[in-house]
Amino acid sequence: MIAKDMYLKLGISGKVYNYCDNVLLGLKDRFAEIDKITEYNQCKVIAAMQKNRVNTTHFNISTGYGYNDFGRDTLEKVYADCFGAEAALVRPQITCGTHALTLALSANLLPGDELLCPAGGPYDTLEEVIGIRQSACSLKEYGVSYKQVELKEDGSFNYENIKKAINEKTKIVAIQRSKGYQTRPSFSVDEIGELIAFVKGIKKDVICMVDNCYGEFVELKEPPEVGADMTVGSLIKNPGGGLAPTGGYICGRKDLVDRCAYRLTAPGLGAEVGANLGLLTSFYQGLFLAPTVVSGALKGAVFAANVYEKLGFKVVPSASEARHDIIQAVELGSAERMVAFCGGIQAAAPVDSYVTPEPWAMPGYDSEVIMAAGAFVQGSSIELSADGPIRPPYAVYFQGGLTWYHAKLGIMMSLEKLYEKKLIDLGEIKE
Ligand SMILES: *Cc1c(COP(=O)(O)O)cnc(C)c1O
Repeated sequence: MIAKDMYLKLGISGKVYNYCDNVLLGLKDRFAEIDKITEYNQCKVIAAMQKNRVNTTHFNISTGYGYNDFGRDTLEKVYADCFGAEAALVRPQITCGTHALTLALSANLLPGDELLCPAGGPYDTLEEVIGIRQSACSLKEYGVSYKQVELKEDGSFNYENIKKAINEKTKIVAIQRSKGYQTRPSFSVDEIGELIAFVKGIKKDVICMVDNCYGEFVELKEPPEVGADMTVGSLIKNPGGGLAPTGGYICGRKDLVDRCAYRLTAPGLGAEVGANLGLLTSFYQGLFLAPTVVSGALKGAVFAANVYEKLGFKVVPSASEARHDIIQAVELGSAERMVAFCGGIQAAAPVDSYVTPEPWAMPGYDSEVIMAAGAFVQGSSIELSADGPIRPPYAVYFQGGLTWYHAKLGIMMSLEKLYEKKLIDLGEIKE
């Protein structure tokens, strides 16, 4: 009851509060399941830090060339161990997830090589990287060709067509763990492992790369543990734990990661250069907090799925489905509902709560996008945020929340805005 008073003060109506409270009663077992995974992953991170003898000198700033930056080099060993990989490149010079993926691809694809996406189209921003949409400096411009195999109707891999698509030119197979701006299911690490085994059964030396964005610490395993040669992600998503202010990572086979370092800096220099600019404390501490932060975000996603599915909206994943990433898609069916939903997420934020999100044309995306985020780190989507392209089926993608209670408030506020604008019907709920 004490919390309820506070929610009312924050602008949640009694009716919305009671509706949500009722939904929560049914989620105890789901939350307990999430807690078990969190506990395991927290221990995994601590074990990796202990094994690599992390100490306070590792947090020292380096500037200039950044030669002999033991803090940076140790962090990369910690990442490699956490993810079950041989090597890792973890740098503030990697500006975002798209950049990390671009590095992994462009460092390992040469003219005449072919890239294959075996699970439908890639993330929106990669269309320009690959050259599916015309762009200067795309892989296509450098003579790298591209093939794509669609998923089957039921969202599963089309193994027969994947087999047909693999040819003598196929060099990298890129698998996206999370659904991104699609309404397909996200893949479990085991499903990805099966696909990798299948691909390698056809062509042994093909490089399997996994876009791991939003997937880190959601399950007990990470893609390198099921045979991924490169696993790639952003530090302003899961593994940065909300503290990393920028950065990206690539972990995997040492020879491939070395090439990524040469592409990031220069041939001959590779990972030896790259000042940490004083960011290492946030990278280490963020990784340390990441399992619990991801846990809060997951609880928020499960809560959102249950709140909106019960109101008759299609949600992906469904209210009862297992989770493979922290993203929750809610198909709201209209631009008006998307704007109201995002308005609620924004209104619940600790930062910029008074602004109203509006759709705009964003670089890298081919339709207008609406984004709500009141974040400490610009664009951070491990912090509570919602976004989506303004196009049918008018799905908002809800993710993040540095704490479960903030995620909870965000969902309640999204519902409140829809309710106030009479865009949903809560039925027979008491005030
Ligand atoms: C966020 C994301 C990206 C791109 O990351 P940015 O940091 O936005 O460039 C790529 N793939 C997936 C699946 C993502 O979720």
